[in-house]
Amino acid sequence: MSTLLLTTLISFVMTYEMPKLPYASNALEPVISQETISFHYGKHLQTYVNNLNKLVLNTEFEGKTLEQIVATAPDGVLFNNAGQVLNHTLYFLQFSQKPIKNRPTGKLSDAIERCFGGLENLKKEMCKAANSLFGSGWVWLAVDSVGKLHITKEANGDNPLRNKMKPLLGIDVWEHAYYLDYQNKRAEHVEKIWEIIDWSIVESRM
Ligand code: MN
Repeated sequence: MSTLLLTTLISFVMTYEMPKLPYASNALEPVISQETISFHYGKHLQTYVNNLNKLVLNTEFEGKTLEQIVATAPDGVLFNNAGQVLNHTLYFLQFSQKPIKNRPTGKLSDAIERCFGGLENLKKEMCKAANSLFGSGWVWLAVDSVGKLHITKEANGDNPLRNKMKPLLGIDVWEHAYYLDYQNKRAEHVEKIWEIIDWSIVESRM
């Protein structure tokens, strides 16, 4: 095998990529506009992906999965970009124009009932967490190693994997996620986001 081909193959294996959106860029309107998708997915996420691919080179994290980097990298610029690639991949893939499930069922539904007293209360608690998060960050629904659900508030690019929990559903409360559509009205954005969550995807992450 030629050196060039080998190098190409290796760099292909180690490259972090943009998630492919399973919907058109205007499919989430009016909850999230095409313009927001074009900036948020097309520019912000693309920048995180590009940065990660540069920063990981010649580090001990080269070739590791995104999850491994996010769980174990020290605080700093590599972690920040890896965190944001993982966060946004989970975020953009949890949406659908026509969700297969517009509410959770089975094991996830049982856990929500047990831990939060039902879906409506979970939504209320997640909205409250999103609206009270100061600055840029994320609110996650996450599951711990014994199957208990938690709502976590994460600063900047953090993710529940840092605390050994699996992220199930994320709300991006960086202003870039909603400012073009809702300006300063974060609460209104967070209220509407439930319309486009596909719970079949959230369930698959349990
Ligand atoms: Mn974002």
